Amino acid sequence: MVSITVFAKHAATAAMCLLLCGCTTNELGTKNTHPKSREFFAMDTYMTMKAYGDGAEKALNAAEFRILDLEGELSVTDNDSEISALNNADGEPVTVSDDVAVILRKAREIGNKTGGAMDITLYPIVKEWGFTTGDYHIPSAETLSGLLENVDYSRVDISGNAVTLPADFQVDTGALAKGYASDEAIRLFRENGVDSGIVSLGGNVMALGAKPDGSDWRVSVVDPFAPDTDMCILGIRDKAVITSGNYERYFIGEDGKLYCHIIDSSTGCPAESGLVSVTVIGECGLECDALSTALFVLGYEDAVGYWREYGGFDMILVTDDEKIFYTSGIADSFTNVSDMNAEVIS
Ligand code: AMP
Ligand code: MG
Repeated sequence: MVSITVFAKHAATAAMCLLLCGCTTNELGTKNTHPKSREFFAMDTYMTMKAYGDGAEKALNAAEFRILDLEGELSVTDNDSEISALNNADGEPVTVSDDVAVILRKAREIGNKTGGAMDITLYPIVKEWGFTTGDYHIPSAETLSGLLENVDYSRVDISGNAVTLPADFQVDTGALAKGYASDEAIRLFRENGVDSGIVSLGGNVMALGAKPDGSDWRVSVVDPFAPDTDMCILGIRDKAVITSGNYERYFIGEDGKLYCHIIDSSTGCPAESGLVSVTVIGECGLECDALSTALFVLGYEDAVGYWREYGGFDMILVTDDEKIFYTSGIADSFTNVSDMNAEVIS
């Protein structure tokens, strides 16, 4: 028998918190900069959104409605979702919405570029470890090797909006869905005339424009070794800041080891890459979310190799020996507020 200590994800203090300090002084008494905000629960997480300007209320309504709609399409636990339809299709093609097609294509693209570190067909293995059910346990080697036979992202066939999974395969878009939701929320902010706003979808942050006073949005990234504490602060505008960390959902096995919810498809086991947190900063939330998970699996050397080869984003890597590494593009907007050493990757 395995004796296990379980640690649940901090609902409100997920990977990042918005730093709202400083807003009040500037906003008070200034008609056009009074924000509207919204808090709600969706996609298994606590979400907050804030928008400025005349269209703010409409924008928040549209964004919240859209995210709930996406949840209905993407949920693995809702039998009526498109993902459930795919997972129960027994090898038959399923016609999916544009949303699902876009997300599955991005998952395949990042799967290809990371040698399968991003693999949405890992879902049966994520379930087996108990990360979806809360029934945490260490599966046997035989169980894992059996399940790994039905894991291979490249076998998800996407042709237009028709998607076919091999029978016995199952997918879960949890590694990148919230990033897509943040892109959609910000798109709807824009469409409703908002040019300044910010969303935090369970710690996945995306900012639109600058703050109304013209300054950067300030976003904190939590310390993976002390998740109630900030590690660093970033000044951003028109960017997503998305973190994957081993502290977000994990259990401690009777062997004393920490088993986190991010799985390495080469072993079927929680990734032990030497990284404890990966934050990706870029313009596309969907891509940043996919990358944060995949680079976590890849580890420091390959994550830096990926960044050098493809670029187009910045990142903050934290290693298990308590060192922070961040890319040169955010050097001017990065403030280390931890005791850890922080070094620039260039
Ligand atoms: P994130 O918090 O964005 O890093 O996503 C982690 C979630 O994605 C996990 O809770 C699993 O549901 C799923 N997942 C775990 N490992 C992988 C992987 N290697 N590729 C794709 N999805 C994964
Ligand atoms: Mg992710």
